[in-house]
Amino acid sequence: MLEIVGLAVSFGAAPALRGVGLRVAAGEAVSVLGANGAGKTTLLRAIMRRLPLDAGAIRIAGEDCGRLTTAQIVRRGVALCPEGRQLFQAMTVEDNLLLGAYGSPSRIARARLETVLGRVPWLRARLRQLAGSFSGGEQQMVAICRSLMGAPRLLLLDEPSSGLSPVAIAQIREMLQTVRHEDGMTMLLVEQNVALATALTTRCTVLNRGTVAFEGATASMADAGDLAEAYLGGAPS
Ligand code: ATP
Repeated sequence: MLEIVGLAVSFGAAPALRGVGLRVAAGEAVSVLGANGAGKTTLLRAIMRRLPLDAGAIRIAGEDCGRLTTAQIVRRGVALCPEGRQLFQAMTVEDNLLLGAYGSPSRIARARLETVLGRVPWLRARLRQLAGSFSGGEQQMVAICRSLMGAPRLLLLDEPSSGLSPVAIAQIREMLQTVRHEDGMTMLLVEQNVALATALTTRCTVLNRGTVAFEGATASMADAGDLAEAYLGGAPS
């Protein structure tokens, strides 16, 4: 579904990614781990064509995406749930969700809303509330639901556990496990939380200062104290 080869991205003279390769098969979930500044968000922004590539290739379902726009990437079935959730705080939850189906006929958007509400039933009674009135964990749920409103075939998630309590992270984990196993969603999960990455993905890529430092079983990271110390800034919790 997603193949990245020799990817290089820089900001001015400063390289952010160098020679990064990655594959995610259809129906697979892969995580990208790494400390702050390792290049994880840059990788997702490059996939969405929000950044110019210095070198390398990004292929989605076999198609070279080098010349596509962000809108065309979205139309190919890729959705990004961004870091920090990025909800419109002064809009209702319902309107935030419907924005995820922007451009689709309203009949289809409504049908997708019903599907999403089937996944998160408690949201139905709170659709008219402002997104800004929701807790961080609730907002993260809404942000994930908004990405699902486009009916993606590849879901990119940027640190969904960021800033959340253990209870909220457990709820996010359960929701994503359902989306993964019942809907068969292909996922690329950027995380610093090794426990969440292990629960959701079988394979991981560890980035360190813009290069691939490790590729292997996500579960092996939980036991790899040295790796975690070197690349994640401490032993996994
Ligand atoms: P975090 O976990 O803190 O979000 P990250 O792994 O997602 O970190 P990136 O945000 O991809 O890291 O940043 C990778 C490198 O690129 C960092 O050195 C960062 O300072 C730099 N960088 C990111 N965005 C920009 C930008 N818009 N302009 C200049 N440098 C940037």
